[in-house]
Order: sequence, then C-alpha cells, then structure tokens
Amino acid sequence: MDIIEAAAKYAGGAKVTKIALVIGEASGVAAESIELYFDIIAEDTPCAGAELTIETVRQKMKCLRCDATFERKPFSFECVCGGEGAPTEAGKEFYIKYIEVEE
Ligand SMILES: [Zn+2]
Repeated sequence: MDIIEAAAKYAGGAKVTKIALVIGEASGVAAESIELYFDIIAEDTPCAGAELTIETVRQKMKCLRCDATFERKPFSFECVCGGEGAPTEAGKEFYIKYIEVEE
C-alpha cells in the first residue's frame, strides 16, 4: 500500500505511531478496507502497530441549474432545486494528513 510507504518515508526511519488519513468518498479508496487490512499490510514496516485514523470527506456536487454546491446523497446527483449536479473536486481526496513518530 502506497500509504504505508509514504508514511515510512516521512518518518525517515523512525517508528510511526499514528497515521491520519483523509479519504474522499469519491476517491475510489475504501476506508473500510484500509482499516481492515492496515495491520496486516503494516506488519514488518515502520508503521506496524501504528494507530490509524481516517477522516472521510463527503462528495460535493455543483448544481448545473442553480449553481449551488451540495453534498451528494446516496444514489442521487440531484440538487434541492431539481437540477442535476456535476461532481466537483471535493470528495476525491486521498492523502496523509499527518503522522506521528516515536520520539
Ligand atoms: Zn440546484
């Protein structure tokens, strides 16, 4: 997993104790599977045993009719005005917010 490699690189050889991730719901990355497999993937890396926190970002849509920005509802692209929303960049995030390393 790239996240593990990136975190280990940031740590510069120190042991990573905490990794905070930001994951947009439209990023194509499943927060659940990262949570599920983190311990296994982190094994034998500087990230082994680190605490993982994941902040999820809701996808934001921009209405093509009234220009409003709104959070996408499940299975719907529709604005409150009935217009159709187009995806914005908000919700496509996938990055490490910060890491903590052992002193
Ligand atoms: Zn609208």
